[in-house]
Amino acid sequence: MKALVSIKRVIDYNVKVRVKSDGTGVETANVKMSMNPFDEIAVEEAMRLKEAGVVTEVLVVSCGVAACQETLRTALAIGADRAILVESDVALQPLAVAKLLKAVCQKENPQLVILGKQAIDDDSNQTGQMLAALLNWPQATFASKVQVADGKAQVTREVDGGLETVSLKLPAIITTDLRLNEPRYVTLPNIMKAKKKPLENLKPDALGVDVAPRVSILRVVDPPKRKAGVKVPDAKALVEKLRNEAKVI
Ligand code: AMP
Repeated sequence: MKALVSIKRVIDYNVKVRVKSDGTGVETANVKMSMNPFDEIAVEEAMRLKEAGVVTEVLVVSCGVAACQETLRTALAIGADRAILVESDVALQPLAVAKLLKAVCQKENPQLVILGKQAIDDDSNQTGQMLAALLNWPQATFASKVQVADGKAQVTREVDGGLETVSLKLPAIITTDLRLNEPRYVTLPNIMKAKKKPLENLKPDALGVDVAPRVSILRVVDPPKRKAGVKVPDAKALVEKLRNEAKVI
């Protein structure tokens, strides 16, 4: 069984993001970029399914600029077998990515597609759901446990107020939540091995997908600055402030 994992190259989660002075977006020049953390979890889950003998091949796919190759190489170093870069200099929105992934799925016929629940740069939380709709495949989002057997995936989902377990007929789409697993570290020998693994380059035109943005960003602004706090001497003073100043109790 083939598993396809999608990977987005995003600003590293440790970087303090700065809004561009003209308000059109955030600074990405000379900023450290990494694999979206939820996609690391997706690659790890695919590797665990391979190690358990359920999956035979792990294919990783990224859509974006040429530099996404580095991120794909990281996934190959984690253990993925093969990579595809759908190269585009256009800023790709979730619908465009979902259409590109659909075209790759139709070419590659994976039984399982694992995506992150959201990309930490745009926080859209849309691509997996759109892909499931475009392919008309079942989906389980926010997965915290995945078991695959007999042509079905049993997925435990993190929902408000608890856990929900659903059963999906394969092929299916799964999006990962934080508690699904703890990704492994990449080792130096595996980084060296990853350099020799196959990485195919495709273009949106060749896949017949129009990636033109459908949503325009009007403005990006910094969150309001927090005011400095004050120290209160004791609980009585705190209650007094909450009651009379903040008027929240
Ligand atoms: P989003 O809907 O943008 O929050 O992203 C959800 C998930 O879709 C991510 O965790 C990735 O697995 C996948 N994804 C989004 N954008 C891309 C991209 N440009 N290339 C590959 N995968 C992507």
